[in-house]
Amino acid sequence: MTETLRKKYRWDRIGLVLGGLAIFSFGLAAWVAPEEEQVGSVLEHPNNAELPESIPALRVQEIQTEKAKEPELDEVVLPCSCNRNVLKLAKNPYSDHRRAARNLPNSFFVKDSNELNAGKRNGKLVEVKDGRGFHISALSHSHAVLLPEVKALLEDLGNDFADLLVGTPSEGTRIRVTSLTRTVKQQNRLGRRNYNAIDEASTHSYGASFDIAFTDRPDNAADCSAPTRAIQQVLSQYQKSKRILVIPELSCMHVTLRP
Ligand SMILES: [Zn+2]
Repeated sequence: MTETLRKKYRWDRIGLVLGGLAIFSFGLAAWVAPEEEQVGSVLEHPNNAELPESIPALRVQEIQTEKAKEPELDEVVLPCSCNRNVLKLAKNPYSDHRRAARNLPNSFFVKDSNELNAGKRNGKLVEVKDGRGFHISALSHSHAVLLPEVKALLEDLGNDFADLLVGTPSEGTRIRVTSLTRTVKQQNRLGRRNYNAIDEASTHSYGASFDIAFTDRPDNAADCSAPTRAIQQVLSQYQKSKRILVIPELSCMHVTLRP
């Protein structure tokens, strides 16, 4: 009996020990797990704690990048303005521009894109691309087309302008043409910002006019004085010889070919 009792006790003890071990291990697991989370969060904190240090580090990088960019900024070639504040040219009345535009051979009123395309097909309007001494700006309110005679005028202007700068540090400077032929729709969109567009029929809507707003130097070897003198000389010469009409505007020189 005693032996069986002892055996019973032993089994109870073993059961107790095993049960205790099981509870202990569960408890240990439950106790360890939160600590792991804590460890994890503790590990995250150093990263967060480093943020205040890493931001200045980024700023330092930005400053260093800015410093590195400084020489590039010096290499930026700023355009030379062509407007009534810079160039000294007589103003031909706008009524003269309109009369000239209407009387040019091939001239017609470019009312809309259908008229514009028809003009291109029958050769009354020709496409204008960059040429010697001039280039066409990115256009948002006009099309790079002109009457053939007006395109020839622009090419002559560009050539004469380029010739004046040959052999000087400004050689290669180009006239920037900022506006050419506008449909009525494009003209109306401009209405609020361009006083010239208030007139019902702009000379730009006849393919007879273009605007020159800048000259662009190839590099900073020369300042703006030589290109500005050159464009002044060429425009003045053409105006005096009655080949062109000019309106010096706030932001550009408006040029119309005379018949
Ligand atoms: Zn204009």
